[in-house]
Amino acid sequence: MSVPPPRLALVTFPAPGSSPIRVRFAPSPTGMFHVGSARSTLFNWAVAKQQGGTFVLRIEDTDASRNQPEWVDGILAAMESLGISTEDPAFEGPYFQSKNVELHQESAARLFESGAAYYCDCTREVLVARTGSQHAGYDGFCRDRGLEYAEGRALRFRTPDEGETHVVDLIRGNPTFPNESLEDFVIARGNGTPVFLLANVVDDMDEHITHVIRGEEHLPNTPKQQLLWAALGATPPVWAHLPVLVNEKRQKLSKRRDKVSLESFFEEGYLPAAMVNYLMLLGWSPGNDEEILPFDEMISRFKIEDVNSAPAFFDIKKLTAFNGEYIRALSVPEFTAACDPWLHAPHAPWSEEQFDQKVFDAVAPLAHSRIALLAEITDNVDFLFLDAPITDDDSWNKAMKAGAPELLADVRVALAETGLAWESETLKDTVTAVGEAHGMKLGKAQAPVRVAVTGRRIGLPLFESLEVLGRERTLARIDAALARLTEIATRTAAEAPTGAE
Ligand code: GLU
Repeated sequence: MSVPPPRLALVTFPAPGSSPIRVRFAPSPTGMFHVGSARSTLFNWAVAKQQGGTFVLRIEDTDASRNQPEWVDGILAAMESLGISTEDPAFEGPYFQSKNVELHQESAARLFESGAAYYCDCTREVLVARTGSQHAGYDGFCRDRGLEYAEGRALRFRTPDEGETHVVDLIRGNPTFPNESLEDFVIARGNGTPVFLLANVVDDMDEHITHVIRGEEHLPNTPKQQLLWAALGATPPVWAHLPVLVNEKRQKLSKRRDKVSLESFFEEGYLPAAMVNYLMLLGWSPGNDEEILPFDEMISRFKIEDVNSAPAFFDIKKLTAFNGEYIRALSVPEFTAACDPWLHAPHAPWSEEQFDQKVFDAVAPLAHSRIALLAEITDNVDFLFLDAPITDDDSWNKAMKAGAPELLADVRVALAETGLAWESETLKDTVTAVGEAHGMKLGKAQAPVRVAVTGRRIGLPLFESLEVLGRERTLARIDAALARLTEIATRTAAEAPTGAE
C-alpha cells in the first residue's frame, strides 16, 4: 500500500525579513514548566514584542500517552505568571500539534513522492549485524530499493552525501554541518506516524515562523530540519539556539537532581517579576552593569544576537538576592498582600483562629525589610500566633549557656515591673541594663530572651517583637523557659555521678 498523494499543496511561506517577525514557543506538555522553558518563552516574547511581531504558542502534544489537559493549563498559567497575556495582540494560539497530523502526513507523502524520502524495512538488529556496531548511523541500505509503504516500514529522509548544510544561527555564529555526518533519518515511523523532526518543521512552516529561538539541545536537529524545509520547498527560518542552563557544579540542570520547575519557585515565594528579571539574564545582559530592570525596559534593550553561547549558570543564590530586592521594592501593603497565601492554610503552621491580621500588620514592616523569600514569613512570625514558641533544640542549646538562667530570671523581674512602658525602646533599655548587671553586652543578653519568647535564635528585631507580643505573653514565655531550665538543671544534677568511685 502506498501513502496517498498529498491532498493539498503546502501554502507558500514568507521569506524571513519580508514580513513581520513570527516566533514561537513549542513546549511538549510534561507536567511541569522547566525554568529553561520559561527563559525560552521570555526571549521569544521579547523579540516578538520589540519587533512588533507575533509570538505563537504551540503545544507539541502528539505523544498522546503523555498528554493531560491539566498540563496544558499549567503551560497557560506559566505564560500568565511570566507576564505574557494570552489576550495581548502579539500572542497567537495556543495551537495544538495533534490537530495538524494530517498536514504532517501529507508532507511525509510529498517527500516520498518527490524522492526526497524512501521506505526502509531494516530493523535495528539487522542494521547492527550489517554495520557491526551498536552506534553506527543508518547505512543507506534501502535508499534505492524502491520500497513502497507497508506496515512496519519507516520513511527515511535522503540526506545529501556531499557538501555542507549551513545554518544561520544568531547566537552560534552560523555553524556548518558536513552532510556526510547526517544519516538518512526517520521522518515517519513504521506505523505511519510522523516523528518530531518533521512535525515540528511542518508546524513551523504552517504557522509562518520566521525565527526559531529554542534550547541548545535542539542544535543537532537543525541541519536535518533545515534540509526538510528546503525539500518541502520553503525558505528555512533564522535560528537562535539558547545556551544550556547549568547548576553550581556546571552540570546541565536536570529535573531529577535540581529544582527546575517554575511552579516550585513560585510555591516558595519567588515573585514572578523577580523570576522574569533573573531569567532574562541567563545568557543575556542589558549592559552597563545593570541587572535589575523593569521587564518593558529589558524588552526594548533585548537583542538576540547579544545572547552568549556559553552555558548559563542558574544561580539560585543570585535569584534569591534578586527576589529580596523585588520584595523590598513592594510597598508594605503590597508585601502584606503577597504574604497572604503563606499566612493561611495549607502553608501556615497556625490555625485560622490563632491568626490575627492586625498583629501581622504590626510586624509586616519589620519582615518586609529582611526576608528574601515570601515562604520565610511563617518562621519569622509564628511566635505571634502559635500558643507556645516552636522548640528548636539547636537555638536553645546555643542561647541557654551558663549565666542564661540567672539573666533570664532578672529580665523577668525587670519586665514585670509595674509602670514599665511596654514599648520597644523601654524594653531594650531594660534588657540592656539587666545584661550590664550580668556583665553581658546587649547582643549576648538578648539571645536567651529571644529563644525563650520566639523559640529561635534569629528573627525579627526583638524589642519590636516583644512590644507586639505583649507583656502577658512575653512574661508567660519567659516563665516557661525558666521552668524548663530548672527542670534540665535538676535532671542533669540527678544524672551526674555523685563522686569519684
Ligand atoms: N517540543 C519541543 C521541545 O519541547 C520543541 C522544540 C523546538 O522548540 O523546536 O523540546
